Amino acid sequence: MKGKKIILMYHNIANPPYRAKMKGLYVLPSMFKVQMWLLKFLGFKVVTVKALVEQMYANNDTDNLVALTFDDGYEDFYKNAMPILAQYRYPATVFVVSSLIGKTNEWDVSRYGGVVERLMDVQQLKEIKQMGVEIGSHSLSHKDLTLLDDDGLKTEIMDSKKQIEDLLQIPVETFCYPFGGCNERVKDVVRAVHYKSGIGTKRGSVYLSDDLFDLRRIPVRLNTHPLLFIYKIISAYEDKKGRCERH
Ligand SMILES: [Zn+2]
Repeated sequence: MKGKKIILMYHNIANPPYRAKMKGLYVLPSMFKVQMWLLKFLGFKVVTVKALVEQMYANNDTDNLVALTFDDGYEDFYKNAMPILAQYRYPATVFVVSSLIGKTNEWDVSRYGGVVERLMDVQQLKEIKQMGVEIGSHSLSHKDLTLLDDDGLKTEIMDSKKQIEDLLQIPVETFCYPFGGCNERVKDVVRAVHYKSGIGTKRGSVYLSDDLFDLRRIPVRLNTHPLLFIYKIISAYEDKKGRCERH
């Protein structure tokens, strides 16, 4: 298992509200705690996506690395995930929707009739930044980028980078495609405005030869039993799932 690189995908770390339509996107804090312990037990080094990508640029394949990613920047990351991460001194990468910082998940509510969830505000983002969390961009307003014209793409991808950089005074180097929607045109813009990597929802581990602007992830869900969690990260299970997606 030497040199294995994986990126885990989380959304909410909380008990799913009764009315939530996509309960699978919630992971219970108690389960999250078990998962963090398992990563340590299995000998993984936890890094940010930025650090993992730097290893890829350097062609370095020696360590077992895992990056923990949290899409959308929910407030439950601050309340429920951060204390557990701090306990283990694990870094993480959070992808925020720049025009909705301190607001709610409007895109979910309008598109899926989902429950309203609060998103972290600037103060909370500043705090987690101090604790070693990388903040990446998840676009300006969480639109499916594959449906936008060139101007729309630039706004979502470039303006969000600038907005987060101005707010938090940090370089924003990692982009996460809303709804996993990406194609060559979208990737070209992400590359052109100087992100160093892009992440979607395609499944699998990460290999040195992979496209840095279409990195694969391993989803962790509400019903991911600890044994399945282990299987997902140490076996070829997710790579097989990813190959099925490619048709
Ligand atoms: Zn999202």
